[in-house]
Amino acid sequence: TRRKMAAGNWKMNGLAEALSELDTLDATLPRPRCDVLLCPPATLLSSMAALAKGTAIKLGGQDCHWQEKGAHTGDISAEMLADAGAVAVIVGHSERRADHGEDDATVRAKAEAAHRAGLTAIICVGETGDDRDAGRTLDVVGAQLDGSIPDNADAAGTIIAYEPVWAIGTGRTPTLGDIEEVHRFIRARLTDRFGDAFGDAVRLLYGGSVKAGNAAEIFEIADVDGGLVGGASLKASDFKGIVDAA
Ligand code: 13P
Repeated sequence: TRRKMAAGNWKMNGLAEALSELDTLDATLPRPRCDVLLCPPATLLSSMAALAKGTAIKLGGQDCHWQEKGAHTGDISAEMLADAGAVAVIVGHSERRADHGEDDATVRAKAEAAHRAGLTAIICVGETGDDRDAGRTLDVVGAQLDGSIPDNADAAGTIIAYEPVWAIGTGRTPTLGDIEEVHRFIRARLTDRFGDAFGDAVRLLYGGSVKAGNAAEIFEIADVDGGLVGGASLKASDFKGIVDAA
């Protein structure tokens, strides 16, 4: 059986004062039943890694460059995230795809870089509101999966996050039935491409307006193995309810 994960994506939020959220979370959840991952801005990774030592809380980055080092002003490599204490990195978040024009090939290269550096790649996919209205959700998600996941991916080092773009930060979520349909589709697509063992083991997170109040019913869905949480991960008191639900 797959271990559940509660992952927090702080996005471009968090100054040094946010470090205390990690201590608060650890103090209220010393032995969570699920994996707990926080992805703070890169500026906080090293100091959070020092605080997280000896706790159940693991850390991740929010993006990485595909190369190991070099002349890429403003970018951070997967190796640098690992060096700062990350065990995972989010790649292909819809905000990266939209704000920075990242396409599937770029996301795939970033996932390969994550694996090269020994990080778990959390690869994000999801349809826009227009896609859903036009009945294109499964086509769009299927194409993103085909294009964004490296051919040599392994299940232990790969997590897929299904994040419908229209559900991010809006307070709107798909119906439980719609989440179930897309997650079942994703697992089937991965099983077709990578085989039964991969399909059984790979973890699929749902993201988009997950809160303490809806986490339990979402995490109960058969092919949902936890959540990737934005706004509700910023405060330990909110995130605790989500970790408890996982
Ligand atoms: P919200 O939880 O704020 O909707 O954000 C979801 C998300 O984009 C996580 O990566």
